Amino acid sequence: MAAVQVQRAPGTQRFEAAVASLRAGVQAMAACVRDADGDTLGEALVQVREAGIDPLEAVFASGVRRFDKSGDYRAEGALSLTDWLRWRCKLSGGAAAERVEVARQLEKLPQTEAAFANGDVGYQHAVVIARAAEHVGAAAVRKEEASLLHAAQTMDPGQFTGVAKNFEHRVDAAGALGEANHAYQRRYFHISEPVDGLVRLDGVLDAEGGATLRSALQPFMKPITDDARTYGQRSADALMQLCRHGSGSKRDGAGPRPQLIIRASVDTLAGIPGAPAGELDGGGTVPAETVQRHACDSAIIRITGQGELDQELNHASRTLPAPTRRALESRDRHCVFPGCTRPPIWCDGHHLVWWTRGGATALPNLALLCRPHHRMVHEEGWRLVRHKDGRFSAIPPPRSVLPTSRSA
Ligand SMILES: [Zn+2]
Ligand SMILES: [Zn+2]
Repeated sequence: MAAVQVQRAPGTQRFEAAVASLRAGVQAMAACVRDADGDTLGEALVQVREAGIDPLEAVFASGVRRFDKSGDYRAEGALSLTDWLRWRCKLSGGAAAERVEVARQLEKLPQTEAAFANGDVGYQHAVVIARAAEHVGAAAVRKEEASLLHAAQTMDPGQFTGVAKNFEHRVDAAGALGEANHAYQRRYFHISEPVDGLVRLDGVLDAEGGATLRSALQPFMKPITDDARTYGQRSADALMQLCRHGSGSKRDGAGPRPQLIIRASVDTLAGIPGAPAGELDGGGTVPAETVQRHACDSAIIRITGQGELDQELNHASRTLPAPTRRALESRDRHCVFPGCTRPPIWCDGHHLVWWTRGGATALPNLALLCRPHHRMVHEEGWRLVRHKDGRFSAIPPPRSVLPTSRSA
């Protein structure tokens, strides 16, 4: 596309004048920022975003929307609007696609569009609301638009994402579960061969995996006195310590697991429609099904009262008592999912009648399931049945909330 002759922007007087005053405004602001210090510098930075970048992003969004509808970007040879934005507006593919999505969704969310244009909410807040509309439909967002915007104005975009995810979960629990399952499918971790003495690690985890890793690293992250290590170096050292710690520990699956704390309401544990998502300590949310899986064996769930997420009623730890766990391991010997032989160290004690539905923590109601199979039972709708002769069978889900491939 680079060979295409680029046409100059429309040469009307009004357009030229607007560009000139925009440039003049930027220069005036640059001079203020240069001369500012202390509090005034902070305020100048706030105004750069509130009076400049965010309202301009709103202007950009409304223009992108009209350009999208007219299809005029094709006149320059671009195959899609995203391609055109990458090429002509110098955006990465991800950044371009995000702008197109925001532009399309904001048309259906007038309050958000106005708040964005006024600088009341930032671009990243608008992205979060647009994503929610993409996931559960703009009509559902419009019903709670005022309260979402109110939250957006008092929170940074990261905190606000938690509020929006909770909202999505309340409106569309099946959709939130599908999204979590999709994120889980994208997980990978890769350790390269050493090159020049360095081994490169890369990967992505779903929200639950990320929270588990973060909380496992936390105890090893503390800086030592006069610590000259960077944050990245401390993280790398913490990972090594965690691995040494892990390989030296008792090799049975009983006892406390890496601590993952989830805050969940009674409604969420009971699987009541419209219940909020579970909130991971340290950020992120997980669907009700994931909360129920953790309630089954491993994590610590902080239960909060009906809808009162702030008021903590009690703690409940579902870790099996050691004697029960030992009896379970000697009966089942490995994951009981048909065809699976993963050893007890990989396994949770699954409650056949879920603990959240009143099932007892006693041998006849328990089964060893490896983590991937435990996940399939709770999050992907599989049903595990124990027959009279003690064998297990697994019944596939009636209706798919699933991604196409499965790893277990
Ligand atoms: Zn379970
Ligand atoms: Zn298994």
